[in-house]
Order: sequence, then structure tokens, then C-alpha cells
Amino acid sequence: MAAITTDRLTKVYPGGVRALDEIDLTVEDGEFFALLGPSGCGKTTLLRTVAGLEESSGGALRIGDVDVTRTPPGSRDVAMVFQDYALFPHMTVAENVAYPLRIKKVARAKRTEKAAATAGELGLSDYLERRPGQLSGGQQQRVALARAMACHPSVFLFDEPLSNLDARMRLEARTFLKRLQRELGVTTVFVTHDQAEALALADRIAVMESGRIRQLGTPSEVFRRPANTFVASFIGSTPMNLLDGVVRQRGIEVAGELLPTPPEPAGRLVDGEKVVYGIRPEYLLHSPTAVPGSLAGEVRVVENLGHAQLVTLEGPAGFVQLVVDEDTPVALGDRGFAVPRQDRALVYRDGELVTSG
Ligand code: ATP
Repeated sequence: MAAITTDRLTKVYPGGVRALDEIDLTVEDGEFFALLGPSGCGKTTLLRTVAGLEESSGGALRIGDVDVTRTPPGSRDVAMVFQDYALFPHMTVAENVAYPLRIKKVARAKRTEKAAATAGELGLSDYLERRPGQLSGGQQQRVALARAMACHPSVFLFDEPLSNLDARMRLEARTFLKRLQRELGVTTVFVTHDQAEALALADRIAVMESGRIRQLGTPSEVFRRPANTFVASFIGSTPMNLLDGVVRQRGIEVAGELLPTPPEPAGRLVDGEKVVYGIRPEYLLHSPTAVPGSLAGEVRVVENLGHAQLVTLEGPAGFVQLVVDEDTPVALGDRGFAVPRQDRALVYRDGELVTSG
């Protein structure tokens, strides 16, 4: 097992795209680490650079105590599982799983035995003689995992390994992956653009934008205290409300209403300065009658979330979304008030978090 450390790791593709811009990162030994971000932010490039499939343009990369910046992929002691699993269609499950052992010149009897044992750990014993085309998506994923595990690598690299599964299989596979990673304790880097997946699986998450890390933290830190408005609007099943406001002595004034914020150390917020007031839809309570310190509006959209409703109000502050429980009657055109939970309000200045509960 091994930690992964990058030091100002940079990748510029021919043509000038700066896919990685001086990334400094340590993935701890045994950690389950997610790289999250919108399409094109550099997640896959970072993973492929750690794997050695892309050569970096600058900076350094270490796995454990070894500088592997210039080490070829085959000598890095990492195993990568690709989005499409990249199984060999003409080989059986047993042959696919044994393949990396064959490359490492392990004797035939030994590799057959090891491959069968690893496949068995993943519940594939009944499928050893089948070919990938004769397996379900979930079974194929397990074959890809078994192949990655067969050599006992120090590091697992997963590139969206769940994205080809249907919604139900995806949840099952997610739980399975988490359990497997815990049991094996292998340092794992996982690329996804699905924030729910990252929150559910990872010990820590790096949220990327344009080749840079915009926040690195535990799932609850990234959810509860997004460090900037980019992360605030990216994380969460419904985006955070980000409203223009002005600092006043007792809170933030938004569209003429004074909204409460958590008590702050003196001097962090300056009376009269422009800020952005952030509050998640889950932390706004619905009131059908006027309440001081709330956001008024007319109900424009009601979306059924199953266990609750996502209500969009339009009022002086613009559009505000709040989650309302399923039993509360809310109709289009109703007047409503969104009452913020003071301890969950966040304040951003120039896009960066100033203060939070
Ligand atoms: P996605 O979620 O869509 O897979 P990503 O976050 O994994 O996106 P990358 O694939 O790492 O993003 O791409 C980062 C940037 O580098 C993008 O702007 C992309 O267009 C560019 N890029 C990726 N591969 C190459 C390449 N081989 N040549 C030139 N530019 C590339």
C-alpha cells in the first residue's frame, strides 16, 4: 500500500490545453479518494497521469516513497479500471483475470489458481469459462475489478466504473465497491462527475475546475462548507441558493429583507459591503404567512422529489428554491415565504467563503 503525492503536477496537451495546472495533492495510504468536477475539468487526465498513461508536462508524482514521474505504467504498481471495463472479448473470465499475471510472467498453474481465487472473492466462480459478452454489466464490472486485484497493486485507479450500470445496479455496485475497498485497504482514486456517488463513497473529495482543485475535504466539509461559489453550486442534489446581498449589523440584507447569519468573529464582515448569501434548499423552511427575515415569492414550479417537493419561488430576491415536505400543500401561484435556518447560512465575498455556521 502507498500514499500518492503530487507536487505542482501539470499537464499541457499539444495545442495548449492546460488540463492540469500545478496540482498539489496527497492521497493518504489506504484512502478512498474521489476526483469530482464538471466535464473537461481534468479528472481523467489526473488519473491517467497517475497511472502513467499520460506523461506530465511539469511537476512531480510520488507513489509511496518512490518518485514515479518518469516511470512507465507497467512498473508503477497501480491497477486501473476503465469506464468501459476494457475486457478482452475473446478471452474467458478466467483468462481476463489472469492476464496481468501473464504479463508479469507468473507460471501458468500459479496464475490459474490465483485468478480463480480472486474471481471467487468477487462471486464469479460460476462464470470462469464465459466470455465478457455473455455477462451482465455488473458481472463485467466485477471481472474488471478482479483483473485489477489479481496483482495486489498498491493503488487502484477507477475511471467512472459505475457509469455503465443502470440506476439500481449502480447503487448495489457502489455499496459493493465501498465494502471491497474497506476490506482490501488499498489506496484508491475514483473519478466521477456524479456528486452523490462521490459523497457516498469517498473519505475525501477533490472538486476540480479548469485543471485546478477548488476544494479538498471530507464529504461533509464539501457539502456543509463549500469553499467558494463554484463548489457551492456544484455540490448538492439541488444547487445552493446564491443571492446578492449587503452586510448589515445584524445580518445580510437581501432584496430589502434582513436575513440572519451565524454570529461572526468581529471584523470578518464589513458593514455595507456586497456579498453573496448562500443557503441550501434543504435549509429553508416554508411558511404560508409572512415571517420577518424570510424570502417572499410566488410559487412558480413544484417538482415532486418522492419524499418531498422542490418549490421554486419568484420574488424580489429572484428565484429561490426550497425543499418542502410531501404533506404540505403547495400550489402554483400561491404566495410563500422561505425562512432560512440561521446556522446553515453561508456568506461569500468575491466568490470565496467568508463565514459559515
Ligand atoms: P469528462 O468528465 O468529460 O471525462 P474530465 O474532467 O475527465 O472530463 P479530461 O478528459 O481530463 O476531463 O480533459 C481535460 C481537458 O483536456 C479538456 O479540456 C479536454 O478537452 C482536454 N483533453 C483531454 N485529452 C486531450 C488530448 N488527448 N489532447 C488534447 N486535449 C485533451
